Order: sequence, then structure tokens, then C-alpha cells
Amino acid sequence: MMQQHERLLKVLVIGDLGVGKTSVIKRYVHQVFSQHYRATIGVDFALKVLNWDHKTVVRLQLWDIAGQERYGNMTRVYYREAVGALVVFDMTRLSTFQAVLKWKGDLDSKVALSNGRSVPVVLLANKCDQRRHGLCPKLPKLENFSREYGFVGWYETSAKSTMKMATAVKILINLLLILH
Ligand code: GDP
Ligand code: MG
Repeated sequence: MMQQHERLLKVLVIGDLGVGKTSVIKRYVHQVFSQHYRATIGVDFALKVLNWDHKTVVRLQLWDIAGQERYGNMTRVYYREAVGALVVFDMTRLSTFQAVLKWKGDLDSKVALSNGRSVPVVLLANKCDQRRHGLCPKLPKLENFSREYGFVGWYETSAKSTMKMATAVKILINLLLILH
């Protein structure tokens, strides 16, 4: 039998308070949704082990931040050895979209690939199940925005759907496995 390689990938999940970071992580890792996640204090990560292909097992660490969002930046310790990130905003709250570039800027100022390039970041427009209350028409075209500011892609997600989150994560992992 062929030996499978294990790849550990540390991926940060960042964005403003209440956008659904903890919820999308819980959905992706445990397939659950709740209205009530405590704003836990500190840093926490969830691990998902994926049989990626016949050669590769991916140990994906999704790092959550909790209670520190209000500062709009994180310490270098949190960013250390991260190979990718998900920047999340809430489709129904414009201010959380406006904060997206601040989060990406903070990330880029603290972590980079060994060749100096920025780590891959996927943009998540979360709470898409609430689209009817949303500000989609007011959002600049996300495709252009995402390309212009160097995101590797963007996805509408909902913590009520496992599939949407899984799709976004899969794209990111594919890229990370090529880079690392
Ligand atoms: P965090 O502060 O970014 O970790 O946000 P939470 O995960 O704690 O979510 C904040 C609130 O938004 C909670 O009441 C969640 O139940 C709710 N929420 C998160 N994601 C979604 C989503 O995709 N759809 C809806 N309808 N509610 C969500
Ligand atoms: Mg949280």
C-alpha cells in the first residue's frame, strides 16, 4: 500500500465580530449550526482531517479568533506559520465588508510566504441565506473587488449550509497543496 503523506495546514479565519466566523467553522467541522455561540475569549482552533487523495491526508487547522475582533488586528503569535486565510464579512452589514481590507492588510503585514508573496486569502460573503435582507446590490462587484485586492477567490457562504463552506475551503486547500 502506498504511504500517505500528512500535510498540516494552518488557516486563519478573520473578520469583524458577529460575521459568523465561529459558525462557519462549526458548520464545516461538525455540520452543526446554532444561534448561540459564546464569544469565547482567546484563540481556538478546530481540526478537520481530510482524506484528500490516495497520497495525501490533510490536517486542516481552522483558527478562530474570539473577543479580539474589536481591535481590528491580531498578534503575530496568532499569525505565525499560517499558510492561508478566510476573511469573512456579513452580507447584511456593510461595515463588515468595509473592514475586509483592514483585515487583509493586517494579515499581509504579519505573515508572508517564504518567497515574500502574500499568503492566499479567500473572501467569504457570509449569511447568504439572509440575502433578501442584504446589501448585495450595494456591494461593489465582488469578482472585481476580489481580483483587484489580491484575494484568490470569493464565495457566498452560509453557516446553515455545509456544502457552501466546503466548496470555499476546498478551493483554498487545492491551492495550498500546490504552494507547499
Ligand atoms: P463571529 O463573532 O464572527 O464568530 O460570529 P458568530 O459565529 O458568533 O455568529 C454571530 C451570529 O450570527 C450568531 O447568532 C450566528 O448564529 C449568526 N450567524 C452566523 N452565520 C450565519 C449565517 O450564515 N446565516 C445566518 N442566518 N446567521 C448566521
Ligand atoms: Mg466567534
